[in-house]
Amino acid sequence: MKACVIDAPAPIETNPLRFRDVPRPEPQGNQVLIRVRACGVCRTDLHVIEGELAPRKYPVIPGHQVVGVVEAVEKSAARINPGTRVGVAWLHSTDGVCEYCRAGRENLCDHADFTGYTVDGGYAEYLLADEKFVYALPDAFTDVQAAPLLCAGIIGFRSLRLSGIKPGGRLGFYGFGAAAHLAIQVALHWNAEVYVSTRDERHRRLALDLGARWAGGTLDPPPVPLDAAIVFAPAGEIVPAALKALKKGGTVALAGIYMSPTPPLEYAWLYHERAILSVANNTREDGEQFLKVAAEIPIRTHTEVFPLAEANRALNALKNDAINGAAVLDISLSSDGLAR
Ligand SMILES: [Zn+2]
Ligand SMILES: [Zn+2]
Repeated sequence: MKACVIDAPAPIETNPLRFRDVPRPEPQGNQVLIRVRACGVCRTDLHVIEGELAPRKYPVIPGHQVVGVVEAVEKSAARINPGTRVGVAWLHSTDGVCEYCRAGRENLCDHADFTGYTVDGGYAEYLLADEKFVYALPDAFTDVQAAPLLCAGIIGFRSLRLSGIKPGGRLGFYGFGAAAHLAIQVALHWNAEVYVSTRDERHRRLALDLGARWAGGTLDPPPVPLDAAIVFAPAGEIVPAALKALKKGGTVALAGIYMSPTPPLEYAWLYHERAILSVANNTREDGEQFLKVAAEIPIRTHTEVFPLAEANRALNALKNDAINGAAVLDISLSSDGLAR
């Protein structure tokens, strides 16, 4: 099969993903073999490729927002029939027995595997998934529309929940990429007001088009005090700005898996029971709840589509703020961009 493979961490500017033939994997145990139709491109893929996440497996095929069709199942995997369209997300599997799993916090599992990081992901024609960790996808979404829901959407949703935002509340977003452009639609559905701070002019326009009350530069103070804020950008210098924008008792949720160092924090910014909280992975329940609400709204995903062979180009564009909404690899496109 064709796949985009990373052999060792390297800056994305060097186009380190190699588009090449690799053996098609064989399902074992609880695994299903999935023929990939579309795979979303996430900032976490950049962190894996550039080595900002501790190296776990090389070579590795990135990609953890996979829409595909079950091609084959191992006989002990009986939950899903061949031919079913499914979604595969970041959480590949958990041990099911550690103290976190037993407490219903599988996102914090001590022995989790992650799609496109510790096991091969969806920048490929096929991948393996654990049948207990794949999602049924609402029919309302095409393959390309559904792909960004599987990480950007789910993590945005978990960030919204952990931010504690209530109906009628005022919520700040810092950064407005794939996750934020989906989370704003859920926040507005919950009748929150959204204020967006981001450095890119096109991202500010998209935020306003989607219903933000205000959009300003990254460190511009929002025009009203915020009940909660979510920092989507991986830049630690934003944390003080977000804290200072909060009302007493407010929470700043940090949605990324990686962030550059935060500058020293003055206790006065944090005092009055403000909180800073990171968002780590997601539970399957988050995924199921989000996909349900996404279909109810229904969420509209803004996507920029690339052929599989051009994953390097998609990731360079993502790094340079040149993607409005979410980048998606459409596996049905040949490398010249034409449908196969
Ligand atoms: Zn566990
Ligand atoms: Zn992701």
